Amino acid sequence: MPNQLAPEYAQLVHDLAAAIGTRYVLWRPEELMMYEYDGSALDMARPDIVVVPATTAEVAACVRIAATAGMPIVARGGGTGLSGGSVPAAGGVVISTGRMSKVLHVDEVSRTARVQPGLINTDLSEFTAPWNLHFAPDPSSQKASTIGGNAAENSGGPHCLKYGITTSHVLAVTLVLADGSITTIDNTAPDAPGYDLLGVIVGSEGTLGIVTELTVRLMPNPEGVKTFLAIFDDLDSASDTVSAIIAQGVIPAALEMLEGQGIALVEQSVHAGYPLDAQAVLLIEIDGMHEEIAAQTAQIEHICAHFEARELRVAQDEEQRKKLWSGRKGALAACARLAPHYHIQDGVVPRSKLTEILRLTREVAKRQRVHIVNIFHAGDGNLHPLLLFDIREEGIIERAVAASEEILMACVKAGGTISGEHGIGIEKRDYMKWLFSEDDLWAMRQMRACFDSRGVMNPCKLIPTGASCGDIKSARAGAKALAAGAWI
Ligand SMILES: Cc1cc2nc3c(=O)[nH]c(=O)nc-3n(C[C@H](O)[C@H](O)[C@H](O)COP(=O)(O)OP(=O)(O)OC[C@H]3O[C@@H](n4cnc5c(N)ncnc54)[C@H](O)[C@@H]3O)c2cc1C
Repeated sequence: MPNQLAPEYAQLVHDLAAAIGTRYVLWRPEELMMYEYDGSALDMARPDIVVVPATTAEVAACVRIAATAGMPIVARGGGTGLSGGSVPAAGGVVISTGRMSKVLHVDEVSRTARVQPGLINTDLSEFTAPWNLHFAPDPSSQKASTIGGNAAENSGGPHCLKYGITTSHVLAVTLVLADGSITTIDNTAPDAPGYDLLGVIVGSEGTLGIVTELTVRLMPNPEGVKTFLAIFDDLDSASDTVSAIIAQGVIPAALEMLEGQGIALVEQSVHAGYPLDAQAVLLIEIDGMHEEIAAQTAQIEHICAHFEARELRVAQDEEQRKKLWSGRKGALAACARLAPHYHIQDGVVPRSKLTEILRLTREVAKRQRVHIVNIFHAGDGNLHPLLLFDIREEGIIERAVAASEEILMACVKAGGTISGEHGIGIEKRDYMKWLFSEDDLWAMRQMRACFDSRGVMNPCKLIPTGASCGDIKSARAGAKALAAGAWI
């Protein structure tokens, strides 16, 4: 294993070490391999150097040095992304926010918190619990993903159905731009005049700059919460129940579905109390004032009975509620019982098309000989077909990719889109052409160039770029090599 610093990087490593300290500049292969993948499993690429700065000024110094050397720059939070966003597809310098994980200030009167980007999502709500406040976006990865990563991906989560996705909760950011300059975009005053630049930054997947500080909205903890598990013997009834709940004006805090094989897999692993033989279960949570909860309970009971739910269980206490949620939140890991590798999709459809697309996923799974489990945010129409396989099987990556392309294309044809929350990254970059014309994509490139004229920030992501970024297949070759037993 070569453990010598490549001569062409010696000066760069020296300058970075002078800026942030030698121990926070990583360049040895065994250090770099930790940063060559994210949660998306299929795309891999090794960075040339990783830096772990502690402050905005240190991030700015690293960006300046890397940009002067003409290196691509990729921000990385928890590395839980599911579209290859933090995978350094063109190599370069990865800037990890791992040391920037502090809550800087809580303002209980304005119900806001100022935080560093590397703060783990759940750590914020735990920190603000004494004020009876919480950060509402709750991706299922919340024990590992960072607020910076959540903002970059504009993440959602079960409770975003009622409270809105991350963009509704970010009020200001400090951003290090591609030339190392530092800027602040502040929308804390309502209805800030001019263009909504904050709206552009949230969801930009690290392509416009590196977020080094955020002011986020905190929500009051609700007066009451009630969680139901509705059990169905057929898929159509469960899907119709989802549509009917929203149509009747009930906006649950969360409305999640597990269907088919996924229910048993989760139950066998997490023991959340889900029935092994059901075709679909809905996890329905309502919250608010006690009177509101009582009224909505009556509506939900009525709708579930109308669509012939086999059973409607109610969590009797916080322990039972947590148990029901442990099934949903631990679902992805639980599915590893079926196969060691996965590829999870993120299509969105109008709720009325849920059954149609779920049926299609079953058919595609059969045809492409790949397991597909659906555990998803039904209330938002945000499907997460989870394709499970063993990458050592010849041809399986191609079949899995073909299966997910067919499902995503069907979502688009049904009036939906290719990502509800996981972002575009490398994985769905080329599918942007299904949704946008060449003129649209040109306008997006122009907008990106306003922030980063040389294209150093997270290149090869989000917008189809053409030849300079090579082929996505080269990143997939990394996953294949790993499957074949390649090490460092
Ligand atoms: C088990 C599991 C469950 C998940 N459930 C959900 C879910 O319910 N909802 C959901 O939306 N997602 C979910 N995800 C996907 C993922 O967790 C989210 O996209 C999350 O927001 C990524 O955060 P991260 O800190 O891990 O970011 P990373 O993966 O490190 O990075 C993601 C992107 O953000 C950019 N980035 C990171 N930090 C910064 C920064 N400071 N400034 C600029 N750009 C930055 C990176 O360059 C990259 O493009 C899940 C993932 C897993 C593994």
